[in-house]
Amino acid sequence: MNTPHNGYVSNRVLKVNIGFLLTESLGTSRDFTFEVPPLAVSDDLKLAYLRGTLRFSRTREGILVQGALDTAVEGECRRCLEALSIPLQLTIEELFSTNPDSSTEFKIGEDAILDLTPLLREESIISTPFAPLCKSDCAGLCPECGHNLNLGPCNCQLDPIDPRFAALQKLLKPDK
Ligand SMILES: [Zn+2]
Ligand SMILES: [Zn+2]
Repeated sequence: MNTPHNGYVSNRVLKVNIGFLLTESLGTSRDFTFEVPPLAVSDDLKLAYLRGTLRFSRTREGILVQGALDTAVEGECRRCLEALSIPLQLTIEELFSTNPDSSTEFKIGEDAILDLTPLLREESIISTPFAPLCKSDCAGLCPECGHNLNLGPCNCQLDPIDPRFAALQKLLKPDK
C-alpha cells in the first residue's frame, strides 16, 4: 500500500499495471475508479484529492485513456498568500503507446506500467489559473507590515498621515 508521507500519498497510485489489458483483444476496455486522498504528484504539485473514473481501452497502438477527474490543486492566493485549494475538472483523453519508437509523448514500458503522473501534472498545470485569488476582492497584505488585510486593518493604516506628506498633499490639491 501507499505510505502516507507528510499527509500525502505517493504518486505510486498513478502507476497502473496494465499488463492484463495488453494481452486482451483490441477494443477491450476496463474502468478504473480513482478515490485518492491528498496526493503528492510531484515536488511542485500537490492535489487535495483525486476522484473519477478513467476507461483504459486496448487499441492497436497501445492503451487509450479517457475520462474525467475531479481534483483540487493546492496553491496560494497571489495577494494575501493564504493557502487555497483550486478545484479543477480534468478531461482526459490520451494514448499511451506500447511502441518505444512512437512519437507520442506518453509510453508504456516493458514493465507494462502506465504512469499517469506526467499526464496529470501537465493537465493540472494547464488548467490552473496563473494567479489565483482566495476571493475576487481579496484585500491582500499591508505593504508595510505584511498584515493580512482580509482580517481587518493594521496599525499602519490607523497611524496619522506623516506631516511632511500632508504638506505635499496640500501642494497637490491647493485650496480654492
Ligand atoms: Zn487572498
Ligand atoms: Zn500594516
